[in-house]
Amino acid sequence: MSRPVRVRFAPSPTGKLHLGGARTALFNWAFARRHQGVFLLRIEDTDTERNSEESLQSILASMRWLGLDWDEGPEAGGDYGPYYQTQRLDQYAAAAARGLEEGWLYRCFTPPAEIEGQRETARAAEQNWRFDPRSRELSRAESERRSSAGETHVLRMRVPDGVMVRIPDHVRGEVSFASEQVEDWVAMRFGGMPTYNFACVVDDAAMQISHVLRGEEHLANTPKQSLLYRALGLPEPEYAHVPLILGQDGKKLSKRTGDTAVEDYRTKGFPPEALFNFLCLLGFSIDDKTTVFNSEELVAHFDLHRLQKGGAIFDPEKLHWLCGEYLRRGGAASLAERALPWMQEAGLAAAAPDAAERARLEEIAAAFLPRVALYSELPQQSAFLFAEALVPDDAARAVLAAPEAAAALAAAAESMAVAPW
Ligand code: GLU
Repeated sequence: MSRPVRVRFAPSPTGKLHLGGARTALFNWAFARRHQGVFLLRIEDTDTERNSEESLQSILASMRWLGLDWDEGPEAGGDYGPYYQTQRLDQYAAAAARGLEEGWLYRCFTPPAEIEGQRETARAAEQNWRFDPRSRELSRAESERRSSAGETHVLRMRVPDGVMVRIPDHVRGEVSFASEQVEDWVAMRFGGMPTYNFACVVDDAAMQISHVLRGEEHLANTPKQSLLYRALGLPEPEYAHVPLILGQDGKKLSKRTGDTAVEDYRTKGFPPEALFNFLCLLGFSIDDKTTVFNSEELVAHFDLHRLQKGGAIFDPEKLHWLCGEYLRRGGAASLAERALPWMQEAGLAAAAPDAAERARLEEIAAAFLPRVALYSELPQQSAFLFAEALVPDDAARAVLAAPEAAAALAAAAESMAVAPW
């Protein structure tokens, strides 16, 4: 590997950490750890209308919960900061000024509604829409004059014709795009906010990112980014686009088919190690047979060439099974400890249990260990043990009145006497 490994996870703080994002973060983390590289976290917060501090905190908390520690970024600092895009606006402005000067960016004064109209016309005629060359070829003097007069505009990338953009991808082999398929995309909005593609390249270059591992949904952005690296005369990172996570119905994972936010799994009592393992399996395998592996084993085996091309199917039953495996691996003491908040919430444990109560909780955890998969299942399954008195209903009373009942109950009592509680 020629460059030192520096990879990044670059979430936008506009919602909770999604399973797909978590898996991207996880693969980047594993790759960095495998190669003693740097895993950095960059916050792509240029969508100031949709950003929220709550989303950011939730993303950071979910990453920590999964054990994805970052070497540079918010709270960690680092030599390549700031790590929030809204604090890097001067860098985008400098790159934009250079682009205008060198001519690979140009000012576009065409109102968005008019462009949308042009697109519609092209769509109706089943033609590829290409940017209207009239605004593309404004003279520099005219462009300056209109800009100085305060006319609203954006900066667009002048995408050359006749170029084949080849993207070597560690997962998909080589992916090629004819530059005619790439529109003159917006790099800077009016008012100085960069678009995702522009800021991403400026930052990846400045932060010396060696490899970009991200979801396949970004593949269409990659030729745009690749052309920008060329315009800037900067070396490109290596790419690996990982397949989408699909629901059982074969469609993109969505709320319809289950929880999509990591935080939901946390609050529902899933063991983080199990979710970690499960996310790895969505597109990666250590070998052809191992299903259960922890983060150290992942790091020891992580290899971009073992990332799969096909869509990864989200199987909730497999996740549930893995959860049970992890609880059993952790043992009763760990289950008692980790399930405590759920026991407390169900009113089955004191806020500050004493040693005797802790010992009893551990006995309960040991008894239910073979049968539970989530922390939240421990109170659900063991609640009957805490019931003050059993009050049989009419049907139960009828059964108890049967002549064989007494003998059966005596046998049951005898077998319970050997149970650990
Ligand atoms: N902010 C982008 C996202 O959340 C980052 C994409 C990338 O990794 O380049 O999808």
